[in-house]
Amino acid sequence: MIPNFEAKLNEYARLLVEVGLNVQPGQTPRINASLDAAALARLCVSACYDRGAREVVVDWRDDFVSRQRYLRADGAVFSEFPSYQKAKFDWFLDKGSPNLSLTGSDPELLKGVDPARIQAADLAAGEPTKPFYDAMTAGKFQWCVGAFPTLAWAEKAFPGKKEEEAVDALWDAIFSVCRITGDGKGVERWREHVAAAARRAKTLNDCRFASLHYKNSLGTDLTVRLPDNHVWAGGSEKSAGGVEFVANMPTEEIFTAPRWDGVDGRVYAALPLALNGNLVKDFWLELKGGRIVDVHAGEGEEVLRRSIELDEGSHYLGEAALVPYDSPIRASGVLFYNTLFDENASCHFAFGSAYPSCVRGGEEMSEEGQKAAGLNQSINHVDFMVGTRDLSIVGTTHDGREIPVFVDGNFAF
Ligand code: ZN
Ligand code: ZN
Repeated sequence: MIPNFEAKLNEYARLLVEVGLNVQPGQTPRINASLDAAALARLCVSACYDRGAREVVVDWRDDFVSRQRYLRADGAVFSEFPSYQKAKFDWFLDKGSPNLSLTGSDPELLKGVDPARIQAADLAAGEPTKPFYDAMTAGKFQWCVGAFPTLAWAEKAFPGKKEEEAVDALWDAIFSVCRITGDGKGVERWREHVAAAARRAKTLNDCRFASLHYKNSLGTDLTVRLPDNHVWAGGSEKSAGGVEFVANMPTEEIFTAPRWDGVDGRVYAALPLALNGNLVKDFWLELKGGRIVDVHAGEGEEVLRRSIELDEGSHYLGEAALVPYDSPIRASGVLFYNTLFDENASCHFAFGSAYPSCVRGGEEMSEEGQKAAGLNQSINHVDFMVGTRDLSIVGTTHDGREIPVFVDGNFAF
């Protein structure tokens, strides 16, 4: 049992609702939760009403029911998407409802299910739900993704522990990386954290760097040119209605996109990479004119190569993110097998697609326009960690001034 668990869970729910979603009086938030997360979801409901919500709607799902359907329902249902489901998505979109998703991944949930059924279901849901998810990524309404432990996930992240012990260990890890202590001040701590991220993003944006130079004792020696109109973002964002929200809880990164054709040198991974159910270890990438021209991995090299060869764009980088070495996620020493957490453990790059918002006006550009502006295009996006205790990053401005960005693994400002 975790000491003070009830107080911590309540503090966590308030964090998700008050900082993550930032529910405003009169709004109708939707909470998407598994029955396994019922205790947390109920506390979130209370926190939403405390904020003056007009009505709180919970969409419950149940892993047992989902699995049974995938295994036993008539095969024809997977290519149908019921009109009442589509009406529901449209209704929430129309209301501009804040959307909270409580995720807990069970890697075995669909084990043994005919992949054709999964593919058909994804395909059938794609078109009808596209307006909703497009509006969400574009920040038309507030949204937030938070986590809760499932047994299967906990036992994967803590292979030495069993059942309740593993779940407790995962709760402990989630609380600590979300800065939840049980003292009731998690919301205040998170507001400070988000403000600090905004200050750093502003400093980086004001510098208008032409390039960054990464160096450490692993052997990383990499020059990364940035698009002329690049934008650093991190911490919180603003919805179309002007409400500040935090889409991922937790978040530690401040990120932008490298110029897809502007990366040269070698970069060493600092942490193993969980890729399609496999682990890639001790690897480096060599880049020339932005393109990955050579790869080596101590373990899992074939899996890594296959991912890089998925399409042309996978050969280029699409994200450069800065995370202090002293971040609580790295300090926890846990490999979560969940991107929401793992990508916040360390400075990272991603090979594959860039976020359009990383260039001023990027969201309004055509794909060709985005590419010309420096943003990489791909169906892939794979984050890999490069931050070490001794990582240094020096920025060079367009008039040739050199400014330290990272010293000894942490921000220089
Ligand atoms: Zn990232
Ligand atoms: Zn990423």
